[in-house]
Amino acid sequence: MAARVLDGIKIRDEIFAELKGEIARLAGEGIRPGLAAVLVGENPASQLYVKSKIAACERLGLASWMHTPPASISTDQMLRLVQDLNHDNAVDGILIQLPLPSQVDTKRVLEAVDPAKDVDGFHPANLGRLVSGRPGLIACTPAGCMEILRRNGIASEGANAVVLGRSDIVGKPMALLLMHANATVTVCHSKTRDLPGMVRRADIVVAAMGKAGYVQADWIRPGAAVIDVGTNKVTDAKEAESLLRNFPARLQKFREKGSLLVGDVHPDAVNTAGALTPVPGGVGPMTITMLMSNTVKAARLRRGKASSTPGAAQSSAGAR
Ligand code: NAP
Repeated sequence: MAARVLDGIKIRDEIFAELKGEIARLAGEGIRPGLAAVLVGENPASQLYVKSKIAACERLGLASWMHTPPASISTDQMLRLVQDLNHDNAVDGILIQLPLPSQVDTKRVLEAVDPAKDVDGFHPANLGRLVSGRPGLIACTPAGCMEILRRNGIASEGANAVVLGRSDIVGKPMALLLMHANATVTVCHSKTRDLPGMVRRADIVVAAMGKAGYVQADWIRPGAAVIDVGTNKVTDAKEAESLLRNFPARLQKFREKGSLLVGDVHPDAVNTAGALTPVPGGVGPMTITMLMSNTVKAARLRRGKASSTPGAAQSSAGAR
């Protein structure tokens, strides 16, 4: 039987509807949450991402600002811009679109962001809060994965969860969130022995490796829930044919377009998993959604108000 599709677009729409209510309540208190995005240089992919984030702000009625310094900007100039945004009271969230040019010290810039405005959840202070289960701003992609599980009634408590990847922005925070939700978590990486064996034990698999179709369908325990974070662009015809051998309609689309987006999990897993996020349309829409949620949450928390935004309770080990 084909896996249940865990539709990120449907959940995005649900959360946007909830956020609209929260934003209207804040408006009643004279507060309009605002996001400042910093887009350095002219990387087309980054331009597209920032454009979608600003469009989401506009859709929800949040204030937004876009700063577009040239690719030649220095670390000191970036630090000054971040300080200005830290001091601007209209700005609740600061988003530094990555990657930054090589001459800019990315870590220093990210650490200069006021943790209270760190809507990407990348600041060490927010990561520390997540480790210790205290309220803070949580990285958007893992927070979005948790919303997908929660809103589809997939229980984390007692589940064996396997996270593939240990990056600071996805794998590590994901593992912490699952642990706080009382899953038993195994984190795998490029040095893990017997990856298929690890995956076979999992009730919940979160794949965040950046390897197109790497996780084979027969690694997935029948009925397991699979959250596929990977977003990989495939342009090679042979690779596309091997990935989509059982999906003629998608293969035809690839032939027309010359490229396709696939996750880290082989598309054939739709026949073994119990539930699966599609790529595209699964985790992707949730990342921007949680950025919006974090901006509203930051607007409340900065003013000492309790937050009721989606995902607000996750870092405080709500399930314990
Ligand atoms: P990353 O920083 O490159 O980390 C990749 C992780 O995967 C590393 O921990 C690496 O292990 C591990 N890995 C690589 N090859 C492996 C293998 N063969 N077996 C086991 N582990 C392996 O990537 P990331 O930023 O976390 O992103 C991961 C993927 O998610 C990418 O495709 C990215 O585009 C996607 N992504 C999507 C969204 C979204 O909104 N949908 C958001 C963020 C990221 P080591 O640590 O040992 O090197």
